[in-house]
Amino acid sequence: METKVQSNLMVIISQIIVLMMVALVLWNILHRPPSQDKDIYPYLRSISPSLVIQCSQEYQAKKTVSWEDLLAIRSTLTEDIARPLIEQLQNSVAFVNLNWGTIPSQTVKTVTRHRKILLRYQFFTPGRYKFPVVGKTWYEDSFGSDREGGKRTHEGTDLFSPEGTPIINICQGRVEQLGWNRLGGERVGVRGDDGNYYYYAHLQVISPKLVKGKHIEKGEDIGRMGHTGDALTTPDHLHLGIELPNGQWLNPYPFLVVWQYWDKQGN
Ligand SMILES: [Zn+2]
Repeated sequence: METKVQSNLMVIISQIIVLMMVALVLWNILHRPPSQDKDIYPYLRSISPSLVIQCSQEYQAKKTVSWEDLLAIRSTLTEDIARPLIEQLQNSVAFVNLNWGTIPSQTVKTVTRHRKILLRYQFFTPGRYKFPVVGKTWYEDSFGSDREGGKRTHEGTDLFSPEGTPIINICQGRVEQLGWNRLGGERVGVRGDDGNYYYYAHLQVISPKLVKGKHIEKGEDIGRMGHTGDALTTPDHLHLGIELPNGQWLNPYPFLVVWQYWDKQGN
């Protein structure tokens, strides 16, 4: 009798252990940060702003060719290989029906993959994002440069304008962070509808209209440029950071060049 009770107890205990293990595995799956395919950022980074601007002029001249098709082909193939393909697109041949001729199938796969990335990550798509500084500003590519004597690297782009210059929102989304932190000073963090996090730091003042957790439109007021936080002794600037959902910070510089160009074109 006693052994039967004991063995029943053993069964119950082992069932509880199995259930706990299943729950643990499920919890881990649910709380895992979204994975990011490794080729996405290297590809986006390989595209120069001048190529995007060249494609944009080509696109403006003949809007029958889709933007993603044009940029995917131009950013992957040399001019002489790209030309016959673009001619087909201009003659209304769909991307999926292109005659690739003697181009190796692996190269065709790469172009197709790049097109897919451009459709999903629309940083270079005309009019999709807004340049964050209103009026004249100066910035350079300083992503990855040393900060605090090599203790950390610069994970963004600094845009310099006079104190009080209006800062506007890049991508429609939700206000995720608002207020003071040690490095960023007066800062705003927006979770874009594209899933990415947009970080605006060193503001002189934050727009009083912003509410944490509330929706924010593209182009809506973020605040005014300043030098708060660890920028106290530096010239006034906006530190802009862009973080992918997996925690990887992107270099905003090439996107900024393109967004500024689009805004000037009135897109
Ligand atoms: Zn900075």
